[in-house]
Amino acid sequence: MKVQFWGVRGSIPTPITTAQIQAKIQVVIQRITAKDILSLDAKEKFLASLPKSLFGTVGGNTACVELITNSDSSFIIDAGSGIRSLGKKISSKNNPIHIFISHFHWDHIQGLPFFDPLFIPNREVHFYSFMPNCKDFFAEQMKNPFFPVSIDAWSKNVHYHYIKPNSSFKIDGVEICAKEMSHPGNCYAYKFQQGNKKIIYSSDVEINHNDFNDSLKNDVFFKNADALIMDAQYTLEESFEKENWGHTPFCYAVDFASGWNVKKLFLFHHEPTYDDKKLHSMLQSAQWYNEYSVDNKNIEIFLATEGTEFDI
Ligand SMILES: [Zn+2]
Ligand SMILES: [Zn+2]
Repeated sequence: MKVQFWGVRGSIPTPITTAQIQAKIQVVIQRITAKDILSLDAKEKFLASLPKSLFGTVGGNTACVELITNSDSSFIIDAGSGIRSLGKKISSKNNPIHIFISHFHWDHIQGLPFFDPLFIPNREVHFYSFMPNCKDFFAEQMKNPFFPVSIDAWSKNVHYHYIKPNSSFKIDGVEICAKEMSHPGNCYAYKFQQGNKKIIYSSDVEINHNDFNDSLKNDVFFKNADALIMDAQYTLEESFEKENWGHTPFCYAVDFASGWNVKKLFLFHHEPTYDDKKLHSMLQSAQWYNEYSVDNKNIEIFLATEGTEFDI
């Protein structure tokens, strides 16, 4: 399986600002030496040597992740503003689309009015969520005066599925299971298994001691995952100020991944007030913390970054 990130930001879309771009250019210019511009090759080598925090951005769109499986169907987790670009990629295909909604906070559904495939007559789209009245919520955000086009303009081949927590079901050979996590108004983590690969998406969660319990339910859901995409919105200091806001500091996400023997951890749902520099410094701290402070030191830790794709 592969994972592609289309939206990684939490709470609200956060476009990069002019001041942030200018700051990056200033630092790049300070690093250039005469030999770096001697030839096209030298210029390319120089650009390739720049850290990701300078030559690129983590991204500003809200939560949306694509799961690329052996199946012909498109698997999408959450429908934040990142789903708009993903819709452009798949709108010309005619394959079924399966969208898994973790919860209905706006940063996880706000991209739907701009998701082109929904407006293609008879395009097959399936929504999965823990709310039986899921359609009503989508209809609400497309009502006048919030949006000029109503949900009636969507394909007539859209289906809404209610998911029972902890029960598994299969789509095209991919086994899916959802688990309730701690977040204001509730949020569900999803586990996807195909063959011997297991991927967990757990955005918007404030993990607590129950999540570390070695219970059968936790064991079956979390243990030995090949990849965990997890809410790591805060620094530890900020998490103390924002207790009960429903998000996890990055070091607890590392503890959690270590405790459940996860192979790859993707820090996700980035805080909108953190810029690229701060997010990359958090990644470094998470890697340092993994190396020096936790028992299982074999976790690979990544910053979920818009546009990037990973083999799992
Ligand atoms: Zn969120
Ligand atoms: Zn939320």
